[in-house]
Amino acid sequence: MDTEQKLNILTDSSKYDLACSCRMKDEPGRLRGQAGRWIYPAVLPDGRKTFLLKVLQSNKCINDCKYCPFNDSRDIERVTLESSELANVFMELFHAGRVEGLFLSSGVNSSVDKTMEKMLDTVRILRNRHKFRGFIHLKIIPGCSDEAICQAVHLATRVSVNIEAPNAGRLSRLSVKKNFDEGIINTIKKINQYRQNVRHYCGQTTQFVVGAAGESDAEIIKATDRLYTGYEMERIYYSAYQSPAIEPAKPEPGTQLPLFADIPLTSSKTNASFIREHRLYQTDFLLRKYGFSSKEIPLDASGNLSLEKDPKLMWAQSHADFFPLDINKADYYEILRVPGIGPVQAKRIIKQRKEARLNRQNISCLGLKIDKLSSYIKL
Ligand code: SF4
Repeated sequence: MDTEQKLNILTDSSKYDLACSCRMKDEPGRLRGQAGRWIYPAVLPDGRKTFLLKVLQSNKCINDCKYCPFNDSRDIERVTLESSELANVFMELFHAGRVEGLFLSSGVNSSVDKTMEKMLDTVRILRNRHKFRGFIHLKIIPGCSDEAICQAVHLATRVSVNIEAPNAGRLSRLSVKKNFDEGIINTIKKINQYRQNVRHYCGQTTQFVVGAAGESDAEIIKATDRLYTGYEMERIYYSAYQSPAIEPAKPEPGTQLPLFADIPLTSSKTNASFIREHRLYQTDFLLRKYGFSSKEIPLDASGNLSLEKDPKLMWAQSHADFFPLDINKADYYEILRVPGIGPVQAKRIIKQRKEARLNRQNISCLGLKIDKLSSYIKL
């Protein structure tokens, strides 16, 4: 098999690891046209949008994660790119202006440390032989050696271990081979220690598979809070699991089950899982940017977010005593609690009111829709 054929398989395989978008299924970012089939949009740590070659070093895997299209029981074509082969392809795309960075992951091919070594070799070739100084996101395999973690944070711009499930009990439903505390959490902790010692900024991110283990949103939110406060996580991503089992039409006996990202969005249950993912991203923003604590996030009796309304609106509707807010006196985080006002508008309000007291006229000059805000603010 030539490099292009391998690349086709391994870049297609990498689409299951999102870690770069907060969009609904049919928006760009999850789907790619033929021309950009190896290339994904992403947001860099400085906020710039860019395009990455997103690829697996190998789709061979000895693990058994039930949600994963490459687990050891799947009957799929298995391929591996050699480190120099992958580095050369990347540099060709980079010099052609097609990509600015690399997102490199891999199935666990024979052993954790051998897999890490192969990925690290690819990154070393890029950094040392090709003098590539741009963005590299490197997946770290849970349970790898301290030496591999140390090397990874020295070489990469961003590293990540996918947490997959919010706790050990939920992960055990997805895999008997993966270990939550000793494997995943321990590796996240070590990454956090090693990244403090490197001179460049090396961010750490992670990703949940949402809905594969029967977990509630409350469990995911609790784990999210712990990851942000305890391990200085740069970002957390939420990837809706699309189980073939929830599709109305069952495949013929003996045929391969469809992979989750290939399922057409026909059933309302399938759409609901993407809305759930979207609500978790909104909650994530409330925790990271809006000053909400995890205990303030409104949940229903079964510990789930509303699919119908965004969590900030739900909070506002159940806190009538907080409103109407005096917009001329409230602090930044109080202003952020007003539905319809985000960080950009809140900063504009604080700046503008230093020059003149806000009223109905000058507040609409800030791009705010006064009619929609009138029940929440006092001028
Ligand atoms: S370790 Fe990764 S590639 Fe292997 S089965 Fe689990 S999720 Fe899939």
